[in-house]
Amino acid sequence: MAEYLASIFGTEKDKVNCSFYFKIGACRHGDRCSRIHNKPTFSQTVLIQNLYHNPQNSAQSADGSHLLTTTTVGEEEIQEHFDNFFEDVFIELEDKYGEIEEMNVCDNLGDHLVGNVYVKFRREEDAEKAVADLNNRWFAGRPVYAELSPVTDFREACCRQYEMGLSNMSQNWECTRSGFCNFMHLKPISRELRRELYGRRRKRMSRSRSRSRSYDRNRRSRSRERKRRSRSRERRDRRSRSREKDRKDREERVGRF
Ligand SMILES: [Zn+2]
Ligand SMILES: [Zn+2]
Repeated sequence: MAEYLASIFGTEKDKVNCSFYFKIGACRHGDRCSRIHNKPTFSQTVLIQNLYHNPQNSAQSADGSHLLTTTTVGEEEIQEHFDNFFEDVFIELEDKYGEIEEMNVCDNLGDHLVGNVYVKFRREEDAEKAVADLNNRWFAGRPVYAELSPVTDFREACCRQYEMGLSNMSQNWECTRSGFCNFMHLKPISRELRRELYGRRRKRMSRSRSRSRSYDRNRRSRSRERKRRSRSRERRDRRSRSREKDRKDREERVGRF
């Protein structure tokens, strides 16, 4: 019996524990769920709820007038806005609390998942520190809400259809539930940023704390260089005009801790 219970723990067959909370760290029923949400006492993963605000979503309005204005926010700007947000949060959390194994941001639209940021630290102690500290903070004008999350395997938490759509770059595989799917739809960062944040970590982590500070500073200026280069390639003509504006916009939209 005990073996059977262990084998179904957190699955759909488990009538006591909520499989959504167990796998995805968030369930649409929230506190009113009829099954138990087992909040972990220790975990490597921190969930920061509703942290990322996609400007595409906030531009949507009930009367449909957003349809006329969406063309002004291009895919490229959205990606850049997201990359900036991701990089800022990643670097600040890693500097303050410790090495991050992976960080993921939900692109879902349902209230319990929209803009959720999952940060998996290498060490449980760092996750604990982060939760305690983050709950006293504000981000982009709103209080931050962070908790330890049971999610450690993001493959299990992700929507298969959505993942296949991303890897095939094909519209045919779109998840039929689109943004209101209850599995994670993770918003991808650009390849350049992925390489930058995850690619150099071995080298970086072997450095001492004091040296890593100056290393980070170099890394930051390299990152600025990367952004400048990509901008100049794509928008050479309006570069000088847009750089100052980008910086201001970014501070406004992305916000800061
Ligand atoms: Zn539930
Ligand atoms: Zn889906």
